[in-house]
Amino acid sequence: MRIFKPEYKMSKTIFGGQTLIEKYSQYLPVSENTPIISLGEGNTPLVQAINMPKLLGFPLLQLFFKLEGLNPTGSFKDRGMTLAVTKAVESKAKAIICASTGNTSASAAAFAAKAGLPCYVVLPAGQVAMGKVAQALIYGAQLIEIEGNFDDALDLVQQIAAESDITLVNSTNPYRLEGQKTAAIEIVEQLGRAPDFLCIPVGNAGNICAYWRGFKLCKSMNTATHTPSMFGFEAQGSAAIAGGIPIKNPQTIATAIRIGNPVNWKEAEIVVEESKGKIDFVSDAEILDAYELIAKSEGIFCEPSSAASIAGLIKDLKNGYIPEQATVTCILTGNGLKDPNMPMEIGNEKIPTVQARVDQLKEVMGL
Ligand SMILES: *Cc1c(COP(=O)(O)O)cnc(C)c1O
Repeated sequence: MRIFKPEYKMSKTIFGGQTLIEKYSQYLPVSENTPIISLGEGNTPLVQAINMPKLLGFPLLQLFFKLEGLNPTGSFKDRGMTLAVTKAVESKAKAIICASTGNTSASAAAFAAKAGLPCYVVLPAGQVAMGKVAQALIYGAQLIEIEGNFDDALDLVQQIAAESDITLVNSTNPYRLEGQKTAAIEIVEQLGRAPDFLCIPVGNAGNICAYWRGFKLCKSMNTATHTPSMFGFEAQGSAAIAGGIPIKNPQTIATAIRIGNPVNWKEAEIVVEESKGKIDFVSDAEILDAYELIAKSEGIFCEPSSAASIAGLIKDLKNGYIPEQATVTCILTGNGLKDPNMPMEIGNEKIPTVQARVDQLKEVMGL
């Protein structure tokens, strides 16, 4: 429920930088009169790996991480959502709706709150990480769980959007991918060139398509001399594109990419072909190993789903698809705090408890 009447101010609300839509307005479907709904998204850090290349046995690798978990709601979804909600407000939509594995709902709920729009969120019961449900709740969305998976939820919200003036903000909404393509433009700005390879997790395959649009734009503007090969990675238990067939009951610990029938499948296949890339899969065990390695060696806490990009990189360094001398960017799509139980679930170390005495403390510290 909304506690106020929406009021769209045209004045600036983000200080110390531009909104994503302002900065990239020339590449986006907006005009001077578009009422921008922003939470301060985009402009996320690109961080070079210092320890991982050596630890993996590929010391010459130039490896960069795009920290999309540092967006306002903790995932890259904010890049597309700022534009989707802005356009919903511009077209005088009554409300927005989405199906979600979690991050879309958190993002939609937050932007809807700022815009004063009602937001409906349909979730697969029991399949969404706790932090994401918590976000959607506190931002004031109306949450509904269904006894089904993400693909079922998407079917339902598509029917509702088709029959009403409620705007669907899943990645079938064309503005989502347009907003998300800005991440590729940022990488070229930050690196001063396009990477040779882009490694990215694949769920509905919207993001890989969005990045490709962004890199092609950079090439056409001559800000990059080449476009990267796009390497997308699904989780093994939900590897519909890699396996060439939709999956009825997708299974993986990487809940953000637990998708059996990706919405952007066709466009993703074109991306693979045009970029000389591929869509492959990684196992849950490989994902969790990568999730732990990047935290322990680079101080970066990402979601398990995000670590699919690193797991894929490791697999392809080992089998020679990615040469050691390459410049690679891995997209870390979401923040590790979204899924706070996972480290405890996978960690088998017990935290020792001692009395509040320095001798006992020293003993466990081995001093
Ligand atoms: C949504 C999401 C993905 C998958 O992106 P798609 O565009 O659906 O392929 C990956 N990681 C995280 C953290 C996400 O929230």
